[in-house]
Amino acid sequence: MSQPYTTQDQIRLPGFAGAVHLPGEAGYDELRRSLNPSVDSRPALVAEAYGAADIRTALLAARAHGVPFAVQATGHGTHAACDDGILVRTSPMASVLVDPGRRIARVGPGARWGDVIAAAAPFGLAPLSGSAPSVGVTGYTLGGGLGWLARAYGFAADSVVRAEVLLADGRHVTADAGSHPELFWALRGGGGGFGVVTSLEFRLHPVSRVYSGFAYFPIEAAARTLTAYRDWIDDAPDELSTAVVFKRMPDDEQVPAAVRGRHVVLLKVVHAGTAGEAGRLLAPLFRAAGPALLDETRENTYAATAMGGTPNRHMDMFDTVPDAVIGTLVRTAERAQTVEIRHWGGAMGRPGPDAGPVGHRSTRLSVIVDTPVPGLAEELRPYANGGTFLNFLADPSRTAAAYGAADHARLRDVKRAYDPDGFFRVGHVVPA
Ligand SMILES: Cc1cc2nc3c(=O)[nH]c(=O)nc-3n(C[C@H](O)[C@H](O)[C@H](O)COP(=O)(O)OP(=O)(O)OC[C@H]3O[C@@H](n4cnc5c(N)ncnc54)[C@H](O)[C@@H]3O)c2cc1C
Repeated sequence: MSQPYTTQDQIRLPGFAGAVHLPGEAGYDELRRSLNPSVDSRPALVAEAYGAADIRTALLAARAHGVPFAVQATGHGTHAACDDGILVRTSPMASVLVDPGRRIARVGPGARWGDVIAAAAPFGLAPLSGSAPSVGVTGYTLGGGLGWLARAYGFAADSVVRAEVLLADGRHVTADAGSHPELFWALRGGGGGFGVVTSLEFRLHPVSRVYSGFAYFPIEAAARTLTAYRDWIDDAPDELSTAVVFKRMPDDEQVPAAVRGRHVVLLKVVHAGTAGEAGRLLAPLFRAAGPALLDETRENTYAATAMGGTPNRHMDMFDTVPDAVIGTLVRTAERAQTVEIRHWGGAMGRPGPDAGPVGHRSTRLSVIVDTPVPGLAEELRPYANGGTFLNFLADPSRTAAAYGAADHARLRDVKRAYDPDGFFRVGHVVPA
């Protein structure tokens, strides 16, 4: 039975092997921190788990005391506070095992993409990681996971083969195609509201060398580049992933002199193929954009390819891109620091019959703006497909918009089956 909760002194974690940090103690502030500056979580305690048994102890304590419970690996995707609750940090559980024969990686819940990329690269393999190596593998994958190889190999969630999961009642189960299949389905894009994943297994892909990097053009090329991009993407092969970004470059010594402090059109490229192919494929786009201020695209290893993300204050997804949208985005560039327009499609739009719930797979382009721009949402709304992507969504109240209606209903069924009283309720959680 739940006991009424009054102070953190009442919470005991019997046998907990990891470190426990109370408010005011060393580590508490650092470990409760989210990368989202508007979230200032004040848990009753932060518990650093050393293993699945620790997470279970913390979960059962939160249940017994009727307090909120949340898991955090890195803080990259923590958009809701766990006030007065138990916040479990999984960062110490960062193991990464690569089986090159089966092309499978198995990771602990604290692993970051950089760890997996480094472990897989010696075997000529790559995971479906995203823009930043510091992002946590498990949170990213549960939210779908849209990386720079997604057009070739799908969302990271599509490559998951097995998860070990601690359920709301404290049971520890294996979810895969044959065991708890509905839970397995939900985990592949449904977010972290179905259980705590204590181990994740997923496929790696045969990618080592890529052609990647950035090319910069003057901002005056914005409209003609985006107009050309809209048509050019129709013929781009799945191995080629790109984004067009309108960006004010920092006036900073680390930025190449040719673009330092300038407002530019930045073309981001990752091609899982040769330099020759990439040059041929990209030529029409470069022609449309005009002379480059700087072209840093080149042959590289996947492991050394760093694409950088765009902080998300506004996101929309489009199945078609009429001229009106292009006009709005070009005007938005004047009022924002960064506007990123990214091509979807390829394998993302071809889910297998048993794929998880990642929604809006027909999206052609996504738009992310890093600055609040008054009126932008209203201007784009008539043309957008109304969807969102869980990993690019800060507002937990819009979680349903990440899924098709049938998949959202199915996710709610899974939630009712595995967490009927809504124990997991902090963050992007589908309600029971
Ligand atoms: C700089 C940056 C770059 C990014 N780039 C991309 C990108 O290219 N593509 C993309 O798809 N996304 C990207 N994201 C979004 C990112 O994938 C999500 O924010 C994701 O939630 C981060 O996971 P995390 O574990 O690092 O974050 P955390 O803040 O540690 O966790 C976020 C949430 O994940 C869930 N979670 C984490 N661990 C577990 C677990 N073991 N069991 C159950 N639930 C768990 C919980 O709901 C938790 O609240 C980026 C984010 C940032 C800040």
